[in-house]
Amino acid sequence: MAKKYVYFFGAGRAEGDMKMKNLLGGKGANLAEMAGIGLPVPPGFTVSTEVCSLFYANKKRIPESVKIEVEKNLKRLENTAGQGLGDPKNPLLVSIRSGARASMPGMMDTILNLGLNEKTVAALIAKTGNARFAYDSYRRFVQMYGDVVLGLKPVHKDEIDPFEAIIEQKKHERGVKNDIDLTAGDLKDLVARFKAAIKEKTGHDFPEDPMKQLWGAIGAVFSSWMNDRAIAYRKLYDIPESWGTAVNVQLMVFGNMGNDSGTGVAFTRDAATGENIFYGEYLMNAQGEDVVAGTRTPLPIVELRKDDPKAYDQLEKIRHILEKHYTDMMDIEFTIQQGKLYMLQCRVGKRTAFAAIKIAVDMVGERLISEKEALARIEPDQLNQLLRPIFDHAEKEAAIKGGRLLAKGLNAGPGAATGRVVFNSVDAEAWAKRGEKVVLTRIETSPEDIKGMNAAEGILTARGGMTSHAALVARQMGKVCVAGCGELLIDYANHTMTVKGRTIKEGDWISIDGTTGQVIEGKINTRPSEVLQVLIEKTLAPAKAPVYQTFAKVMTWADKFRTLKIRTNADQPDQSANAVAFGAEGIGLCRTEHMFFGEGKIGPMQEMILADTLEQRRAALAKLLPLQRKDFAGIFEVMNGRPVTIRTIDPPLHEFLPHEEKGQRAVAADMGITYEKVRERVESLHEFNPMLGFRGCRLGIIYPEITEMQARAIFEAAAATKKKGIGVEPEVMIPLVGHVRELADQEKLVRQVAAAVMKEQGVRFKYLVGTMIEIPRGAITADEIAGVAEFFSFGTNDLTQTTLGVSRDDAARFLGPYVEKEIYAKDPFEVLDRDGVGQLMRVAVERGRRTRPMLKIGICGEHGGEPSSVEFCHIIGLNYVSCSPFRVPIARLAAARAALSNAPRPAAKKSASSKKPAKPKKPSRKR
Ligand code: PEP
Ligand code: MG
Repeated sequence: MAKKYVYFFGAGRAEGDMKMKNLLGGKGANLAEMAGIGLPVPPGFTVSTEVCSLFYANKKRIPESVKIEVEKNLKRLENTAGQGLGDPKNPLLVSIRSGARASMPGMMDTILNLGLNEKTVAALIAKTGNARFAYDSYRRFVQMYGDVVLGLKPVHKDEIDPFEAIIEQKKHERGVKNDIDLTAGDLKDLVARFKAAIKEKTGHDFPEDPMKQLWGAIGAVFSSWMNDRAIAYRKLYDIPESWGTAVNVQLMVFGNMGNDSGTGVAFTRDAATGENIFYGEYLMNAQGEDVVAGTRTPLPIVELRKDDPKAYDQLEKIRHILEKHYTDMMDIEFTIQQGKLYMLQCRVGKRTAFAAIKIAVDMVGERLISEKEALARIEPDQLNQLLRPIFDHAEKEAAIKGGRLLAKGLNAGPGAATGRVVFNSVDAEAWAKRGEKVVLTRIETSPEDIKGMNAAEGILTARGGMTSHAALVARQMGKVCVAGCGELLIDYANHTMTVKGRTIKEGDWISIDGTTGQVIEGKINTRPSEVLQVLIEKTLAPAKAPVYQTFAKVMTWADKFRTLKIRTNADQPDQSANAVAFGAEGIGLCRTEHMFFGEGKIGPMQEMILADTLEQRRAALAKLLPLQRKDFAGIFEVMNGRPVTIRTIDPPLHEFLPHEEKGQRAVAADMGITYEKVRERVESLHEFNPMLGFRGCRLGIIYPEITEMQARAIFEAAAATKKKGIGVEPEVMIPLVGHVRELADQEKLVRQVAAAVMKEQGVRFKYLVGTMIEIPRGAITADEIAGVAEFFSFGTNDLTQTTLGVSRDDAARFLGPYVEKEIYAKDPFEVLDRDGVGQLMRVAVERGRRTRPMLKIGICGEHGGEPSSVEFCHIIGLNYVSCSPFRVPIARLAAARAALSNAPRPAAKKSASSKKPAKPKKPSRKR
């Protein structure tokens, strides 16, 4: 049997269906589906996407065999409609529309009212008794055909459309303002003028023969697959050129045949809120383009109940049929022709994140979809819409339309924040204390800024990437953050910033959207999150919070299917409590250095760094010990027996000392030493490459007394917690290990302290000693390292930095363009680079578990809360991911989706304990 290229639909039957999108395009497949289930679809046929490829392979000609098939289907259409193409008494008029596999709205061409000529227009007048309607249809056809098929278009971008110019001229001559004021005679004259212009400018006669019109139109629609707009759109949305478009030839129905006709578009539910209500608009006596053009204001769909109750009831029924059939919210187009309803299109409706979540959850309740399907339909990042404050939509739109968009940076911490600009942390704290809302605006942030960041509504930086200090601390705190906004020129001295020639002064209002990266001048009101009000602020009862209930259902379902555990990165009891409220099952990273910036701690820390002798250092550390112990005890209590991974000190020491003279003088005065001494120490700690310098375990190896103090604080806190009858499970984590001997050195020390504390306190508690895998040597020698480490945690921020040789703090300048040039598909500090960093992780998992089969492995880099990276962690068999508290729900959903869309995981389902490794400490390596 010859290959089939053309598919008929209509009169309750169809040769295609919705599963044939690849062949029939989205529009064709759904028209066939609707016709097949008995909905009133004007009959027609779809020329398949395969013909598009043949068309291009055949020098842009439609192959003869396809032409024969089209002619046969045209006959069938004529028979079904009871009309003939070009019939001078009863003419068939058709629309010719494109329809690719993926929706490409407005990118390709459409021709309406095809089949009209001097003879058939007379028949149309006779049939409808409406000469104005007939000539209006005719002039629209000639205009579209002249543009799309015969190529009469503006040549320069500033030129007015030639057809519009003729219409304007005519209106001018007639002294009228609107198209609607033109009479049948005027429109008839326009047709003649259009044809003359086509002849004059293109040298082509307008074809009178409807078959010639049809071939021209089908060819033009296929050709529009390669127009500039379509090519650009495909590039933007990764749509392959090889897909091609289908062409739909369909009986015309008219919404502009009088007051008993009309047209509209609708969603089967509210696409903005997800509410289960019929949502749409329509216009009586109008064609589709009138609804879109905005010249007349369409009416809400409920009004149709009055204008045409029969059509409205039918639409309501169709709305339910479609939802049941497609099990999704649909977007529809319809036309009423002289009281008869026709469906012209349906497709899965686009919706806001908020609506996506609500619709998925509601549809489970309505038994339309399963819990698994609901999870598959919610993108994890969409949950941000439920967790973060959001801007009042209309206010934000108005601000942007009003030219208040200042710049765009990285969307580093989602949510909406509005406040007055301050340029340093001290001011941020002071202003916040007196009740002002502030946005802390810095070139970049450092650990010194923590208190100011905490006091601010949001954080805006000019430098730094997705794992810069500002970005990761903001996420941990649940703050809105726009980072790396290079267009901002910040002048600390004058307390101003300049952007796009505008100067923003300290105290001016600014609004930042951490979900999109937009920075907007002025104040925009925000709405608080209902979920937060229930879970964190505890100011709203769950029963009174429908959005919270939706959220809670999604989380319950996610937990049912996920196999990855979810932990959090937190270093304060309140952050830990937030994370637990969001469902965290442990702490995967407590960065102890963040604690040193808390109340009363920076002094002894600086004293320790400025010490000249071991004794002096020990004395300073002795002051820090009770403070750290208290912090850990607070966290252990909140975590109530859940595992807590605490990392020993990691950043280079210079980060704890001020870099400006004023600050250094203050430290000197506090400590009773000279300013010169402080300055000299800062200078001696200076490194060309601090990220690769004296940091991580290197600090603890050179200054074992620091690790000793930290281990003692951890274990004494554990002992005290245990004595209170609260479960405790510390996991001490050594950072930046590249060689097993580095880890062995620190492990020995930690275990000695643990044994001593247990003896002193007379209690025993479980604990583990493990390491971060965050430099390539650590990953490659993971089998050796696992001989000592009881757990691994991938520090993918550093692992990305060291594997790519790209500084996480300096990358913003070129990573953006890199992504634009598709060198990296995504920012590798945001989305895990599976092919590079990911392969090292695979190696480390495989080699680590070769030595210690039950090795517990997690991730605590920022990727631990990013959905695609979470999926990768699931695939390679990690036990858990750890992310900032506000990302915990996102990670829960991402883990469930990963489990549902990937085969069962390869390894270690049970958590490792401190069991002995399977192999001796130094395994021989064969690879
Ligand atoms: C990492 O490197 O991924 C990590 C978690 O550590 P930090 O970001 O503190 O360097
Ligand atoms: Mg690190």
